[in-house]
Amino acid sequence: MTRQGQAHAPSYYAATAKGQINFSSLDSDARADVCIIGGGYTGLSAALHLSERGYSVVLIEAHKVGWGASGRNGGQLHSAQRREQSTLEKWFGKKHAHQLFDLGEEAKALVKGLIKKHEIDCDWQDGLIHAIHKRRYLDDMAREIDLLQREYSVRDVTMLSRDEIAAALGTNAYFGGWREQSAGHLHPLNYALGLARAAHFAGARIYENTAALSVSTTGSPRVTTQKGTINADHIILAGNGYLHGIDVDTESRVMPLHNFVLTTEPLGARGDKLIPNREAAADSRFVVYYWRLTKDNRLLFGGGETYGQAFPKDIKAFVRPHMLKLYPQLSDVKIDYAWGGTLAVTMKRLPYLRRLRRGLYTACGYSGQGVGTATFAGKLLAEAIAGESTRFDVFSKLPAPPFPGGRMFRTPTLALAMTWYALRDRL
Ligand SMILES: Cc1cc2nc3c(=O)[nH]c(=O)nc-3n(C[C@H](O)[C@H](O)[C@H](O)COP(=O)(O)OP(=O)(O)OC[C@H]3O[C@@H](n4cnc5c(N)ncnc54)[C@H](O)[C@@H]3O)c2cc1C
Repeated sequence: MTRQGQAHAPSYYAATAKGQINFSSLDSDARADVCIIGGGYTGLSAALHLSERGYSVVLIEAHKVGWGASGRNGGQLHSAQRREQSTLEKWFGKKHAHQLFDLGEEAKALVKGLIKKHEIDCDWQDGLIHAIHKRRYLDDMAREIDLLQREYSVRDVTMLSRDEIAAALGTNAYFGGWREQSAGHLHPLNYALGLARAAHFAGARIYENTAALSVSTTGSPRVTTQKGTINADHIILAGNGYLHGIDVDTESRVMPLHNFVLTTEPLGARGDKLIPNREAAADSRFVVYYWRLTKDNRLLFGGGETYGQAFPKDIKAFVRPHMLKLYPQLSDVKIDYAWGGTLAVTMKRLPYLRRLRRGLYTACGYSGQGVGTATFAGKLLAEAIAGESTRFDVFSKLPAPPFPGGRMFRTPTLALAMTWYALRDRL
């Protein structure tokens, strides 16, 4: 049975959370136009956009709003899609690749627009650097930037030499990279809590500590919880990496994996020197390293992944060696927080958005790029339910092959494959 009622993970984000509304749990039957399962960016954004369109919405969250990946992630808002445009062009042709790029850019603008419109206090900071950890990747990077500038009119990208990236990030670990001014970073949990407030004030009924136990679309769509049944015209599955036992189709195409983050103690002036422009950074490893300064000048660093059920017993000890690879000069620094979260990936590392059958939608599998894409998926779900599915279909047409081994055996198969790719990072 899906568990319910857990507090936020003991993270830096939970310790600095602001403006949290405590929503009650559902203790009787309910009826709505749309029932949303999951209170992360996908579900909250769908709730907000549907409520703004006049739909009655019930959102149920098994724990607290923002409890999942949306309240635990690196907080980086990236551009476009998780895959390079050159890859998307090769796979789907130029037209579809351009549509995906434009929607990715709109997702980035949507996040910034929502922060402004709803006055969400979430430490937004412009600027993101992509760091190249293998010399042999530099030519590919130059080709990709050239494509973006020539064919996608990208103007805010600056290439960085080895010396420039060292000065920007306080580490000699990289051969070069590029800087994007329109991408950036935020406090992910406070962003999620801000979306929840906006959805609540727009009229969505949000229930916490309320897990969906099953979903049925035979007859009129309904969701069963411990204490009540929700009847709705449409159901949205927005549980991402935490959705278990609700929909076999989604679970066979989307794989949960765990990723880990730490924050140091506040670094004061040492932090200012480390990353003087306060940009976020992500590197070219298959198991990506990502990092940035927090508002109070801690280094927030993410790196290391596991597959299967358990988190490492000592997450600080698990992540710290990765951080020290880039920042050996921080070996004297105390680690104040370390936590893990579960994201969801697809085989092609592109989101999985589908109308599964009449009355049932799913949106998940953002493959590590959910701050923008999950927020945007919520908006597209609202459009699709209102009968405007052209933009939703740009994503729903993307192939999403099931993982080898299906729902039961996808984890061991993936673990093997990922271990091989992680090994390649070190070659
Ligand atoms: C450590 C980490 C770092 C990351 N860093 C970044 C980053 O820097 N930038 C970026 O763009 N993306 C990043 N991501 C990915 C990003 O966080 C996710 O893609 C995004 O938050 C997904 O949002 P979501 O709403 O779909 O899912 P979630 O935020 O995971 O929300 C799903 C919610 O559904 C609830 N739920 C599940 N099943 C049920 C049920 N049966 N009944 C009721 N509720 C249910 C869960 O409790 C959960 O709260 C990271 C992820 C992790 C874990």
